[in-house]
Amino acid sequence: MHLSRYFLPILKETPKEAEIVSHRLMLRAGMIRQETAGIYAWLPMGLRVLRKIEQIVREEQNRAGAQELLMPTVQPADLWRESGRYDAYGKEMLRITDRHEREMLFGPTNEEMVTDIFRASVKSYRDLPLNLYHIQWKFRDEVRPRFGVMRGREFLMKDAYSFDLDKESARHAYNRMFVAYLRTFARMGLKAIPMRADTGPIGGDMSHEFIILASTGESEVFCDKAILDLPIPGEDTDFTADLSPVITDWTTPYAATDEMHDTAAFEAVPEAERMSARGIEVGHIFYFGTKYSEPMNAKVTGPDGAEVPVHMGSYGVGVSRLLGAIIEAHHDDDGIVWPASVAPFHVGIINLKPGDAATDAACADLEAQLAKAGLDVLVDDVDSRAGAKFATMDLIGLPYQLIVGPRGLKDGVVEVKARASGERATLSPQEAVNRLI
Ligand code: ATP
Ligand code: MG
Ligand code: MG
Ligand code: MG
Repeated sequence: MHLSRYFLPILKETPKEAEIVSHRLMLRAGMIRQETAGIYAWLPMGLRVLRKIEQIVREEQNRAGAQELLMPTVQPADLWRESGRYDAYGKEMLRITDRHEREMLFGPTNEEMVTDIFRASVKSYRDLPLNLYHIQWKFRDEVRPRFGVMRGREFLMKDAYSFDLDKESARHAYNRMFVAYLRTFARMGLKAIPMRADTGPIGGDMSHEFIILASTGESEVFCDKAILDLPIPGEDTDFTADLSPVITDWTTPYAATDEMHDTAAFEAVPEAERMSARGIEVGHIFYFGTKYSEPMNAKVTGPDGAEVPVHMGSYGVGVSRLLGAIIEAHHDDDGIVWPASVAPFHVGIINLKPGDAATDAACADLEAQLAKAGLDVLVDDVDSRAGAKFATMDLIGLPYQLIVGPRGLKDGVVEVKARASGERATLSPQEAVNRLI
């Protein structure tokens, strides 16, 4: 991709409406544009990152045994009347009427719809366990949409739904998602802490919010620092095995949001280990038993021939919110510092003298070699001064910069700069390619 042809509307000024750094940087780096309160267009650079995040979420869901489907954004109100939530949901639900005066809504979540899909075809315990997920736009008419994509009204969520014969097997399903979430957020360069969350009338210990620590977070959280050093389960995790030892490790150190905070239990943690901070909710997993299957009549025949309502759980990830959360965790005064796994491009080649035949040729050759190795490359071939080029490249935060100019080429060298450390190396073009691939 060549910057001269790329739609990247960089903002020179700091947008006044943006209160937090991730929102400011997403606007300045030309990633998103607000169309109306809490509703954003994803510009090419923003969309690239959104897709990378989505793909990591997808890979980890698949690894954990969940199956992807795609449910619609618009849903019939009648489905929500069955569960009793149509009236209960309140003003956060965007309600729509079609040309036949039928009541519809833009889905804020999908428990009812997935239960409907399930009950239409699954009748026996032999078809369990089952976990279905999709990555789809949601709409919630938030009272105070703010902080850019962090609290939008339209936002992209991954939501998975598990179906099991009984509570014990539902616990396995829950544990699988718990481990999948640990892996998912770690792959994006985030330390997400599972914190006990409210289970409502169901009770029990099967609801966790996954929280990223950030001073701009909307939740107040309390934890034992020991949880920050726990190892992330590996790629070779056997998701068919009993995962409860991992869950025990991760739920033993104290960690709770203010809603669930237990002062006495927190004060039992040695003072030096206690941490109270602010956090961003990037995921939420929840066992809710037969809350929907009972009223919606989603039943299976058990081994003894008796029909029972299925036990369900739901598991959300805020895919679009994650862009904000990752930037909150990875930026400096000059701009974004993308972790390689979600970077829109891996390398930015800075052509210091577009139009100079030797420099253009060297850039084209480097681009071809890096692309051949599977890297996404953005070439800054714009005719502007070096300072502006460096500032743009730092702002958009690609992990590596490859700086190519006529003076260096005369000596047979180019410069490689790592965005995160600022470390620079002067190398031959071939060495530079080898360093990056
Ligand atoms: P919050 O407490 O931030 O309002 P929630 O508890 O209402 O979130 P859930 O119903 O648990 O959200 O949805 C799953 C995930 O979707 C959340 O963990 C969060 O990451 C994301 N999410 C929820 N609301 C929004 C929103 N308005 N904008 C962006 N992401 C959101
Ligand atoms: Mg909410
Ligand atoms: Mg919440
Ligand atoms: Mg939640």
